[in-house]
Amino acid sequence: MARALPPTSSGAPQVRPATEGWQQKKDAEGRPLLQFASPKRGKPPVHLADLTPEQRVEKAKELGLPGFRAGQLERHYLTRWTSDPAEMTDLPASGREELVAGLLPPLLTEVRRLDTDKGDTIKFLWKLHDGALVESVLMRYPGRITLCVSSQAGCGMNCPFCATGQAGLTRNMSAAEIVDQVVRANQAIARGELGGKRSTDQSLERVSNIVFMGMGEPLANYARVMQAVRVMTDKKHGMGMSARGITVSTVGLVPAITKLAAEDIPVTFALSLHAPDDELRDELIPVNSRWKVDEALDAARGYFERTGRRVSIEYALIKDMNDHPWRADLLAQKLNARGRGWVHVNPIPLNPTPGSIWTASEPHVQNEFVRRLNAAGIPTTLRDTRGKEIDGACGQLVATEDDEAAASAS
Ligand code: SAH
Repeated sequence: MARALPPTSSGAPQVRPATEGWQQKKDAEGRPLLQFASPKRGKPPVHLADLTPEQRVEKAKELGLPGFRAGQLERHYLTRWTSDPAEMTDLPASGREELVAGLLPPLLTEVRRLDTDKGDTIKFLWKLHDGALVESVLMRYPGRITLCVSSQAGCGMNCPFCATGQAGLTRNMSAAEIVDQVVRANQAIARGELGGKRSTDQSLERVSNIVFMGMGEPLANYARVMQAVRVMTDKKHGMGMSARGITVSTVGLVPAITKLAAEDIPVTFALSLHAPDDELRDELIPVNSRWKVDEALDAARGYFERTGRRVSIEYALIKDMNDHPWRADLLAQKLNARGRGWVHVNPIPLNPTPGSIWTASEPHVQNEFVRRLNAAGIPTTLRDTRGKEIDGACGQLVATEDDEAAASAS
């Protein structure tokens, strides 16, 4: 049970974390365990989306075909979303199957699908080649379609309020496993499975926005995430998506943020802050033991300076935990101290996770939090909690064997 500590300066109680039936993993010194390295598992098969355009050409040649066949395959998979040789009639029948088998091996097996919002939100449960399970969530909004992708099976960051964090890290996903979530989502949309088709304009009936807010810490799987982003954004050899429509969200791995800022791909950057003070953030985001609030904010500011892209601060509002008015003020102060117009704040009411006693802040507390930030000149908008009914909202993705069992039972 939670221990109520003495009231904080605002008078509201400060509740300390406690979980029922779940113990946070600890390292030898008793600190929350952080897993940066991916446990060794059999590697997923190499796929076109793991390779550079030049490597794809090489691979086609190895398979005994002229190099330009690789380009044709690229277009089939990344712009028409097919990996079915029967549909690739521009490729000579002889060698077609081998080319597809060599460059487009199957990566994700659909295990289960749940939907809500009259079909406008779908959560997919995928099984990877080694049995690891991941989820992605597809959401239709007026004028855009957003896919929330996973970048790791599980997560090593151990945040106590996030269901994925509680399960630990199974392994990094390959670039192609990340990209295939988008391809498979596009296939579903094209078949009219996301609440029916709304437009005859094919360019609107596809994923327009991607958020790396599914399972995993994207910056802990840096190289593969960047390769996936390159494939998503490449106009000539990829999916031709806009980098601005892609959001990379992180707990705050500072060296990787700096590296990301130096890439020539202006993705939208989001920092999961959740507390403006180290005392609380040390508990909520264990990686804060490595990089403190101020360092993470400096890196976020650096991202803005380098790219000109306004960054987002994510803040899950947890009742009596981090929702105090003085914390809103402290957050505003820390952001304003780093300049104006470079950042906006995206609070989100905490989504429930199994075994956690924490709940979302009360609406009037949320509103006050938002009001104070806005009053201090920080653009702040509450984020929606799409997919909550199907455990598909932020922090609820776990993909357990139970889900798999439920799928085979139904
Ligand atoms: N590891 C990355 C991306 C995955 S989480 C990161 O932490 O940023 C995507 C967002 O959901 C993060 O801001 C995360 O803090 C938030 N989140 C996690 N658990 C949540 C919960 N129970 N309720 C609301 N948001 C949550």
